[in-house]
Amino acid sequence: MFTDLPYTTYITVLLLAFLSVFSTLLGVALAIYVVKSEQAIALGIGFSAGIMLLVSFFELVPEAVGDAGMGLALVAVVLGMLIVAALHWIIPHTHLVDEKGSFRPNLLRTAYLVAFGLILHDVPEGFAMANSYIASPSLGILMAIAIAIHNVPEEFAMAVPIVAVKKRRFLYTAAFLSGLAEPVGAIIGLVAVHFHPALNSFFMAFAAGAMIFVSIHELLPMARRYHKIHLFVLGSVISVFVYMLLTAVVPG
Ligand SMILES: [Zn+2]
Repeated sequence: MFTDLPYTTYITVLLLAFLSVFSTLLGVALAIYVVKSEQAIALGIGFSAGIMLLVSFFELVPEAVGDAGMGLALVAVVLGMLIVAALHWIIPHTHLVDEKGSFRPNLLRTAYLVAFGLILHDVPEGFAMANSYIASPSLGILMAIAIAIHNVPEEFAMAVPIVAVKKRRFLYTAAFLSGLAEPVGAIIGLVAVHFHPALNSFFMAFAAGAMIFVSIHELLPMARRYHKIHLFVLGSVISVFVYMLLTAVVPG
């Protein structure tokens, strides 16, 4: 059972995916040229995590539940969490900062997959956007803007410690993979629906699970390691206002 999505859907989704490629590069450029502070990182990851949790709980999960029912949506959310978690544990993966909250240059040599957790979740972010667009173009546009905005501080947080230890090559590789991951995710999401339309809500709920996991497993502990939980909380509060603004601006 194949569905042919209109070709305008493919084009629009790919164009929207480039919003986040651009914001990924912007976040990395900020880390290289503008500011390198732990305060800015903690504030930024609070904001990033906040946006991911908000769109997961208020957009992706309700849309998937409405479409596929509570049972299937929950299974997909849990699968999203489990698969991302499993990849975290299978692939050697080091956190960027130690318990005392300082950068760990000595570990970076073995930790070329340091940024792995963040790059990994960019793929489901592509699902979140593409499959939301198929469910409803206005939801897709809302997701594309929200994800693009949250990428700036997230990529910034990933890049600052790498900039600090002057691993330029690693930084460019991480930025490249990160930028590429969302368009790749978007294409996977589109192709999946081409093969089976029921996969659309599954992919949305799966993306929600992956983003919830990354927010809690990766971003929150990062703020704790920097000893800046209050800034993380402030960033999350700001994300609520930005999200409300977005839902008001993007026609539903
Ligand atoms: Zn993210």
